[in-house]
Amino acid sequence: MVKLGRTIKLRLYPDTNQAEQFLAMSQEYQRVANIVSQWIFDHEFQLSWLKINHYLYKIFRQESSLNSQMVQSVFRTVVARYKTVQEQMKQHPYRYQNEEKKWVQVPRDLNWLVTPIQFRRPQADLVRQSNYSFVDSMREISITTLGKRTKLGFTDKGFEKYFTDDWKLGTAKLVHSRGKWFLHIGITKEVNDFDAKDNPKVVGIDRGLRFLATTFDSEGKALFFDGQKILLKRKKFLEIRRQLQSKGTKSAKKKLKRLAQRENRWMTDVNHRLAKTLVARYGSHTLFVLEDLTNVTFNTDDLPKSLRNSHRSWSFFQLESFLTYKAQAIQSTVVKVNPAFTSQRCHKCGLVEKTNRHHETHEYWCSQCQYRCNDDRLGAMNIEMLGQDWLNGVKHPKIKKLTTVG
Ligand SMILES: [Zn+2]
Repeated sequence: MVKLGRTIKLRLYPDTNQAEQFLAMSQEYQRVANIVSQWIFDHEFQLSWLKINHYLYKIFRQESSLNSQMVQSVFRTVVARYKTVQEQMKQHPYRYQNEEKKWVQVPRDLNWLVTPIQFRRPQADLVRQSNYSFVDSMREISITTLGKRTKLGFTDKGFEKYFTDDWKLGTAKLVHSRGKWFLHIGITKEVNDFDAKDNPKVVGIDRGLRFLATTFDSEGKALFFDGQKILLKRKKFLEIRRQLQSKGTKSAKKKLKRLAQRENRWMTDVNHRLAKTLVARYGSHTLFVLEDLTNVTFNTDDLPKSLRNSHRSWSFFQLESFLTYKAQAIQSTVVKVNPAFTSQRCHKCGLVEKTNRHHETHEYWCSQCQYRCNDDRLGAMNIEMLGQDWLNGVKHPKIKKLTTVG
């Protein structure tokens, strides 16, 4: 079994009075969170919930209008934030160049913090049933505020399915954004794992630039997902960026930042849709096979010169993570294989020969058996083959370079 986690976002419709109560509660929550954070900071990063509860619970029950559940919710939230930061620091050690110009890494822990973690925005984490619950046959939601519980309407546009699909609702976050109120609810569900013995479909996915993705499945079908529009749009982004950079003014810099954010959002959306399409197309019990692109420099031959340096590999990794996330929910999975020679191996006779690939014509033409094939398709075919190897028990499938075969 594997536990899936998602967040559903409900729009809330409080009246003026309720909105005031929400604001008052989240401000109080923020105030208490900052005091708890200071306490943790002053007590050698004591993150034991029991200890924090022991020292601070009574104080807050006397001086704060938050109810008992909410006070404990603050403790949990603050401790969770410190643990996240602790993990981040562990993953990003401090690096510096010593006198011999050598890079030195020093592991970091919470003691490297110079100030307590700040909770900069009003917020409130609500525990299910005790702080929020659905009432009137799911038509309304009841939420605890500083005074008493209050009922209000909500919409769950796009998230309806999670209310019927045996998902478990967890803690929710009350969010105030641009004058609107939302409730973000964490939900979980246990589903069966991918089972390699379940006769899965195998789909090799070759990620590229001319084609965003080329797929080849165990039934012998190939699909091409055009990347031209994406390239064109990225070129446009690049042109605007160039113009803004040449200006160099303060307002141009601001615009540059916004432009980068817009481009990232757009690329994220492209990846979301691609992952969604792939999962919908191949369905459950599918083994998606991708190349492991960690530490690989991308071949950007397909790109116009102006775009080569701006190519961003994060987008490839993002697709991988979206696909993994969506595949999990339907008993499918993603496996990563060694990318070496996937575009150089003849799928028919097994010869590995770099010069068989003709970039100009996007064709693979085997010098030994004369097999001809679109080069992106060939990549996907070899990736699919490595997926079959994995199913057959090879732990790290890879293509071995045999320059003469037969
Ligand atoms: Zn061949």
